[in-house]
Amino acid sequence: MKIAQLFPKKTKIICTIGPASQSPEVLESMILKGMNIARINFAHGDFDGHRQVIANIRAAAQAVGRRVAIFGDLPGPKMRIGMIANEPIFLERGQSFILQTEKIIGDQQRVSMSFKELSSVVEPGDSIFLNDGYIHLRVDEVKKSEVHCRVKVGGELRSRKGINLPDVDLGISAFTERDKRFLQFAAEQRLDGVSQSFVECAEDIKAVRAAAMSFNYDPFIIAKIERSRALNNLKSILESVDGIMVARGDLGVEIPIERIAKTQKRIISEANMLGVPVITATHMLESMIDNQRPTRAEATDVANAILDGTDCVMLSGETAIGQYPEEAVSVMARIAQETESDAGSMGVADLLQVRQARGEITKEDLISFNIFQSAQTLKPAIVFVPSASGATALRVTRFRLPQWIVAVSLNEKTCQKLQFAYGVYPEFVTSNPLSWPHYAQSWLYQHELESDLVLVIEGAGTVKAGDTTRVDIIDLA
Ligand code: PEP
Repeated sequence: MKIAQLFPKKTKIICTIGPASQSPEVLESMILKGMNIARINFAHGDFDGHRQVIANIRAAAQAVGRRVAIFGDLPGPKMRIGMIANEPIFLERGQSFILQTEKIIGDQQRVSMSFKELSSVVEPGDSIFLNDGYIHLRVDEVKKSEVHCRVKVGGELRSRKGINLPDVDLGISAFTERDKRFLQFAAEQRLDGVSQSFVECAEDIKAVRAAAMSFNYDPFIIAKIERSRALNNLKSILESVDGIMVARGDLGVEIPIERIAKTQKRIISEANMLGVPVITATHMLESMIDNQRPTRAEATDVANAILDGTDCVMLSGETAIGQYPEEAVSVMARIAQETESDAGSMGVADLLQVRQARGEITKEDLISFNIFQSAQTLKPAIVFVPSASGATALRVTRFRLPQWIVAVSLNEKTCQKLQFAYGVYPEFVTSNPLSWPHYAQSWLYQHELESDLVLVIEGAGTVKAGDTTRVDIIDLA
């Protein structure tokens, strides 16, 4: 079958799996409709439940004969308030409200919270947000373990709602002891990746990698960008991770909402430049939790993320707890397919052109830039990239070629990691093709592709990870 029929879109779709989607039937249907990656959110559920869900995803992928990667989301130091009696309560603008580390059942005047260090990290004048940013408190006074606040913007409050402290240095690593237990579980389950919540700096990612190594585990590590402080360290974070997520849920509380769009564009563009796969997440098709069709704004949001240059688009509540998980995947795939002919990322070519003119371009960038230019001129049917680490495929796909990049690899782990990259179709092989013209010919035949021309980006990359040396233009006519 033609690759365009098998995989009608190049943008990778991530589905958060939850009660609405964990059954084998729904998983199989979501995979066939375009889901490429499953996200297990460790903030909810227990290990026995996760084990079953992971088994279901793997069985479903096998049943329908499609590749699916799985990653676990480490919740990080997510702060929450404690329990409230007679909930919901309603906080009125101007009233006083106390957050305290001592455990109590909360009421209209005070509530306990899980972050023991709260009173030592905030000071009068700081802002504290509750319930996804809907409630805004201003710190008046800090008294031992109590933080006395004034309500600036009121609203309804229920037990266990999240707390955000934008711009406040929490003085702790994003990678917590609890995350370490989740990471060990991810290692035991051989998950392809993990994402770390509330990353502030590259050290947070290094801590995850070091802990993973201690479990003899080498996952694809994704930094979730949701703290305003992470934006100051974006370059070093990008240099230390395998993937990055624009986690707009918490980010939308940590920075003013009006900055979200341009921040998303900045993160995507910097990730594209470095060939780091980027995920755009949260509220993409939110109204589909309850409705069969998305709003116009949501459909436009998905398309715009693709035009910005995102590799993956992610569904959260829509597939975890929504009423229409299959429809959400289907709509997202259709929007992606429709949008991809105009997919973004020309910014990478423009910038590399400037760097080339200035003589500042790296060897790796120059080679991938030349491949892009050759593909633009020659219009091959497919670009084959023999891949050891996947680095060359990532550098080439930054240019958003209209062709598929088929990453041919002896390494199953590389294939799973390349699931996160736009337009890359990972093909696992048990031995390297002896003749690329023969391999390409039979591949084109199997996929009913008529054209005779292919590019093969072959090089030391198959021997020495990440080092590309040769481009073959193979005319099979
Ligand atoms: C987010 O905040 O956008 C996000 C993806 O994280 P979570 O779903 O864990 O809140």
